[in-house]
Amino acid sequence: MPDLCSMYNVEAIRAEFPILQQTVHGRPLVYLDNAATTQKPRSVIQAIVNHYENNNSNVHRGNHTLSQRATDAFEATRGKLQRHLNAAFEHEIIYTTGTTGAINLVAHGFRSLLGPGDEVLVSQLEHHSNLVPWQMLAQHSGATLRYIPILPDGSLDLDEAQRLINPKTKLLAFNHISNALGTVNPVKQLTDWAHAVGACVLVDGAQGMAHRRVDVQALGVDFYTASAHKMYAPTGIGLLYGKTEWLEKLPPYQGGGEMIATVTMAHSTYAPLPFKFEAGTPSIEAVVGWGAAMDWVTALGMDALMAHESELMAYGTEQLTAIDGLVLFGTTADKAAVLSFGFAKVHPYD
Ligand code: PMP
Repeated sequence: MPDLCSMYNVEAIRAEFPILQQTVHGRPLVYLDNAATTQKPRSVIQAIVNHYENNNSNVHRGNHTLSQRATDAFEATRGKLQRHLNAAFEHEIIYTTGTTGAINLVAHGFRSLLGPGDEVLVSQLEHHSNLVPWQMLAQHSGATLRYIPILPDGSLDLDEAQRLINPKTKLLAFNHISNALGTVNPVKQLTDWAHAVGACVLVDGAQGMAHRRVDVQALGVDFYTASAHKMYAPTGIGLLYGKTEWLEKLPPYQGGGEMIATVTMAHSTYAPLPFKFEAGTPSIEAVVGWGAAMDWVTALGMDALMAHESELMAYGTEQLTAIDGLVLFGTTADKAAVLSFGFAKVHPYD
């Protein structure tokens, strides 16, 4: 990898993305759909190729050299993620299929913890992944789902949030950064309010981990989720961070290999964390690629990355607002680099 950290050299960084070296419709490819998924730098692609060419094997279940190498790489990524998020323990990082998989894991586990009279609070600013699992939980448990409304600038109505959080609230779920409007939500504030009534807090960090420094212990959240593909890593892999006491309390999500300690015809016992929640053969090459992506992000530096994004954001906002008839959605002061806009009477497909 070239020296990218000494200076934020956009051309050098761009050159590290093989996909950006093509032309589309006769012009150099410009890709702006990073909220949906990011492109992958060469080092991530090479890590996956290296895994398949040299180390491919299953993890945690072979004594041979290849299995040892694959397991070491697989677990090394967990360590990098723990340090990146400042989780207290490596076992608090659970590999999932992504943010959607992580939220479903928690929502499913809460089926046995909630009942009629309990309330689950989410915001109106959620991705479907942080909404539908809670609707399903409400249906199965008899708990009531409530919503924090949004103000015209795209921020959450915090007065209403404070009013809605009450002793019946058992779980509060909201996003760190909205993929639709870029709103950066006050995670610590909302978490403190929820904890004051004994509620559990899950933060959908699909965009948060990619665009901000995240310290799960400083924020105090009980669960934080992320999708690797939003931060230069492969698809099909993500994480659930959970405080140990909550991960111990939740039942396993799926049964199968890897997640068991003992199995008889009558009964099984479960493996310790994190493996209790990692049934079946995982996406090993994706985890290996994620490790390389974490190295990439570390080399660039989160601060440099955020500073560059905010520069682009200011430039983009200025350019777009100069266009007659264009309406920007999401205008909060603390906003991540997403620009949503519309024109009166013009459909986005046009
Ligand atoms: N939440 C937010 C805020 C997102 O931006 C996304 C992806 N667009 C998701 C959840 C779902 O992530 P995934 O599809 O990777 O599970």
